[in-house]
Amino acid sequence: MNKEITKPLQLEEVIRLIQDQTDIITDSEKCTLDDVRGRILAEDIIAPHDQPPFPRSPFDGYAVRSRDTEGAGQETPVVLEVIGEVDAGGWFGETVAPGQAVRIMTGAPIPEGADAVIKQEETDYGEDRVRIYREMRDHQNYIFAGEDYRQGSVLLEKGEYIGPVEVGILASAGICEVFVQRKPRAVVISTGDEIIYPGQPLTAGKIYDSNLYTIVNQLKDWNVDVIAAMHSSDRAEQAEEMIRRYANAADLIVTSGGVSVGKKDIMHEVFSMLGIDRIFWKVGMKPGAAVLAGKFGNTVILSLSGNPYAAYVDLHMIVRPTLSRLTGNNRLEMIRGTAVLANGYDRKSPVRRFIRAFVQDGKAYIDGHTGGNGDISSGRHMNAMIDVPSGSGELMAGAEVNVILL
Ligand code: AMP
Ligand code: MG
Repeated sequence: MNKEITKPLQLEEVIRLIQDQTDIITDSEKCTLDDVRGRILAEDIIAPHDQPPFPRSPFDGYAVRSRDTEGAGQETPVVLEVIGEVDAGGWFGETVAPGQAVRIMTGAPIPEGADAVIKQEETDYGEDRVRIYREMRDHQNYIFAGEDYRQGSVLLEKGEYIGPVEVGILASAGICEVFVQRKPRAVVISTGDEIIYPGQPLTAGKIYDSNLYTIVNQLKDWNVDVIAAMHSSDRAEQAEEMIRRYANAADLIVTSGGVSVGKKDIMHEVFSMLGIDRIFWKVGMKPGAAVLAGKFGNTVILSLSGNPYAAYVDLHMIVRPTLSRLTGNNRLEMIRGTAVLANGYDRKSPVRRFIRAFVQDGKAYIDGHTGGNGDISSGRHMNAMIDVPSGSGELMAGAEVNVILL
């Protein structure tokens, strides 16, 4: 198989190539409010009623006719007759006539006739008659029906991500079930003769599989339905068979390992056995340069580097944008920013480099132990990567750097 050195493509170019080959999921399914968080809406949601459904009071106080309070002041209170009381959840059926007021609580409907609510602190808390110490304006402290949203307005749009606030919006509209996009389905395959599952005894020459777990859990964090996760030996036939078995059921297959130029770098052979034309191989970045992409039928296959940190960079830089296209979920788009380096970094970057970092309050902290591509433990605490342009020298503390938030 074609493993000859190809000129690495720019990351942005690679993302465009893979996104061009990725179709958005159009299947939808019904989902209840309890399970809808993290999903993508497959329909527009129209408000079935005004929110709030009735004019309501923002304070505990008295519902009044503002005109009745003309000239009211600390020394010149206006006295009104209190004709009743209304609590949140209650309903006061009568109309407030001139000279009258209704005791009202926060969230209670403002009765007919009243057009303002005076806070109780600005009265004498009167029971049958109340002294008003302040002049009220028309509709002061008055929450209109539909002030939050109007009946018939578009509350949420097709394609929108449903986070906690969006679930709350649906609930506020009394909606219990919505159509959402089917979750993207993924299969994860780790490769390598040296790799064993946790739980097995650690025998000579073997290491435990960490990529399988990192990748599966990262995908779950991105609301992917991981339908299968398994390990293959470095026998190309085994990896090939796994891909054939699962490709129909998956939108995406993510593999790890076997994508470099060594004898055991089987993924090239697997691609050729499956008749896959690669979309790209090799990206101009470090780590994670060796990543191979192709399509088997409609299933996108992304074969990531086996080195744990490299695989992690590939997950964020290549798998995530692929998922963002697959779902249309704009929350999966890269979040970029700048930060000031809290400490220096003494290596040069002839190739674009992604450095593990912790970013807080505009400062980027590079762990003293930045770790190699093969390290997993140094990814602890990282919440960002510093995006260092190719051709950069050492980085000095205090320098402004580009960061990508994870
Ligand atoms: P490869 O890309 O297959 O050449 O692997 C590169 C390095 O990553 C080797 O040191 C592998 O042992 C290691 N590696 C590969 N796959 C995994 C995995 N699933 N978990 C942890 N380390 C891995
Ligand atoms: Mg390997």
